[in-house]
Amino acid sequence: MKLIRTSALSSLLLLLLVASLAQAAPPKTLDIYFIDVEGGAATLIVTPLGESLLVDSGFPGDRDAGRIAHVAREIAGLKQIDHYVSTHWHRDHYGGIPKLTQLIPVKRFYDHGLPPGPADDIQAELIEAYRQTVAGKSITLTAGDSMKLRPTTKYLPPLQVRVLTANGLVVGEQPGTPQVQPCGPNFQSIAEDKTDNYKSLSFLLTFGRFKFFNGGDITWNIENRLVCPKNIPGAVDVYQVNHHGVDNSNNPALVRNLKPRVAIIDNGPRKGAEARTFATLHGTLETEAIYQLHRNVRTTAKDNAPSDYIANEAEECQGEFIKLSVAPNGESYTVSIPSKQISRTYKTR
Ligand SMILES: [Zn+2]
Repeated sequence: MKLIRTSALSSLLLLLLVASLAQAAPPKTLDIYFIDVEGGAATLIVTPLGESLLVDSGFPGDRDAGRIAHVAREIAGLKQIDHYVSTHWHRDHYGGIPKLTQLIPVKRFYDHGLPPGPADDIQAELIEAYRQTVAGKSITLTAGDSMKLRPTTKYLPPLQVRVLTANGLVVGEQPGTPQVQPCGPNFQSIAEDKTDNYKSLSFLLTFGRFKFFNGGDITWNIENRLVCPKNIPGAVDVYQVNHHGVDNSNNPALVRNLKPRVAIIDNGPRKGAEARTFATLHGTLETEAIYQLHRNVRTTAKDNAPSDYIANEAEECQGEFIKLSVAPNGESYTVSIPSKQISRTYKTR
């Protein structure tokens, strides 16, 4: 009898211990991984509930799909990608998806609509590979849509991913809006962009007060429409620098309105992070830190971030990523370069 009582008591104690451990488990962060695809884009977002959203998949072939699958499985601990978005039809953004689906299951696909016909800047064989991969099940997003993510629990602030531009239109604009729309002080336009870049999907993620903007490869003229006559994204905390930091994007009118505290450039060693973009970011009063996936080997130190803000310094690299972790209350965030064991924490604005 005594024995039984002791064992009942110990299982009760064990239960209490398990319950208190479960209670003490810290709430999860919102994590964003900027994966190095050598001047393409691949941004993996993992919500505190473990739901995943991958924006872009790098270039075709094994290298980028392999890097993305490694971060997704080994670093983020995912078993599948819940949502995958191609911002636009350039090979450095959606080329990796057919291979990636062989390495990790991908549940839902989103894009700005398949191209209506052949175009000089779009490779027909890659579109065909994409069609086969999604098997008719891709979802077309338009400006103003929000991604259907699981709602956060009452212990977490609201999380939203909203589409601000799609297929050449900014949220609120009528179809047929011309690319160049004079607006704002010091208005400046550039030659009309005839490529698919300006049709990129762009997103604003909000988690409580925290705001992150990812604009794909949208270019100068549509960037102005995003902030004039109305500043649609508003000021953000973190800016994934448009178009890898190429300078027909990153119109100062946009960057001045975004006022990012942290800018992250997904450039390659010889692509993007151009001197003019670097100067625009540098000249933005609110910008405290500029991170680069790669040192730009074509410019000097003055047009690159300091070494501890660069994930990959040598042209021949291991493809190291940058990680952003937003605190469970959305009030601060940490940017780290895990391979260099460097991390810095910033306050949400
Ligand atoms: Zn690109």
